Amino acid sequence: MDIMMDGSLSAVTTNSDDAGPGAKIPLLRPHPPRLSELGGALVEIERSGIFSNYGPVNTKFEGRIIAAMFQGVGACVTVANATLGLMLAIKQAVGWQPQGRYALMPSFTFAAAAQAALWCGLTPLFCDIDRETWLPDAASEEALLRRYGADIAVILPNATFGNCLDVARYEAMSARYGIPLVIDGAAALGSVAMNGTAFGQGSKNPVVFSMHATKGFAIGEGGLVYCDDAAKIAMLRSMAGFGFDETRLAVMPGLNAKMDEISALLALTKLQEIEAVSEHRYRLYQLYRRLLPAFTFQRMTGRRSAMQFVAVLLEDESAASVAEIISGLAHHGIGAGRYFAPHLAQQPFFKETCMSGSLAVTDEISRRVICLPMSDLLTATEIRYICKTLLKLCQRAPVRHILGRLDMAAIQAVR
Ligand SMILES: *Cc1c(COP(=O)(O)O)cnc(C)c1O
Repeated sequence: MDIMMDGSLSAVTTNSDDAGPGAKIPLLRPHPPRLSELGGALVEIERSGIFSNYGPVNTKFEGRIIAAMFQGVGACVTVANATLGLMLAIKQAVGWQPQGRYALMPSFTFAAAAQAALWCGLTPLFCDIDRETWLPDAASEEALLRRYGADIAVILPNATFGNCLDVARYEAMSARYGIPLVIDGAAALGSVAMNGTAFGQGSKNPVVFSMHATKGFAIGEGGLVYCDDAAKIAMLRSMAGFGFDETRLAVMPGLNAKMDEISALLALTKLQEIEAVSEHRYRLYQLYRRLLPAFTFQRMTGRRSAMQFVAVLLEDESAASVAEIISGLAHHGIGAGRYFAPHLAQQPFFKETCMSGSLAVTDEISRRVICLPMSDLLTATEIRYICKTLLKLCQRAPVRHILGRLDMAAIQAVR
């Protein structure tokens, strides 16, 4: 399987190399564009003498992604990474002095969201997630909104593992309570909503995406803030450049969150193949689902999720069994991991600094989740090997039958 120059990917192929003994399949295989193949464009950057500060390559990328991915709707600004994008967007949303107020977010998310809120002087307030979609749970959010009301300064949901949030529901919630909204879509650049548009398209509130090496839209370090509100994007651009106006006087809070020209070149190059990459990854994910029919997967709410890895739930949630399965996979050359486990409310710093509502579902999903390999380079043969190995390990697991309801036929089918 390789990515073709025109951005298309060959079909999900069965590699003739049999993955098996001696296999080495990492959980994630970062696959940013090859710098070594961008010689001419790099020379061009050198010649231009412009290395950052929203140079020509960055401007081209911002224009192209709006046209190619968001159907020309809305505006965007690049950032050096999504965490900085979240800090900027939250700060813009809540104003300069939000001391002592809350940022409503799920505990089942990445540390960056809580850290960004804390940097903005807010206290993360964790809500529970939906049992099926693993997105923030509407009833849990509503309960906290009713209880804390105006003490909540911002609503900060996460498009969990690239799954599509219902942006319209959040915009209505934000309007009803008069509380600003920032969407952490870090893992969702390449996700497609049910109506066929890119996740986030048309959102009047900032959606923050990541282009970290481990995401589907991989460049190394990078991010994008999208919003169908050009004035908000213009302000975020100033904030990302020290809070300067055109005369280079600080007129608002700021920091340096600018993307450099070389990263912008990588982003521009990745943009050409992101549709093919996202399609390919989604097909691989569907193969996993076919091969693991007895496992519980996240229910997808969009037409396509940008897959960073493949999360499944184990039946036996005992720590000993989960650890056994992960080390068993490692023994067979398969990298597996756990996101978001422990979830935020369980992590030392957040235990001290944050607040939680009830997290019963989060606790359970987090105990049961394990993440299986995904990458642009993963083959169908490797997935068959991964699934076969996982099924065998689950059958053998010590404490109790992890997959009591799984019949041998499923295992045979994978052979
Ligand atoms: C990856 C990720 C981030 C952080 O993105 P960076 O670009 O690495 O800063 C934030 N939130 C979520 C949900 C993520 O998955």
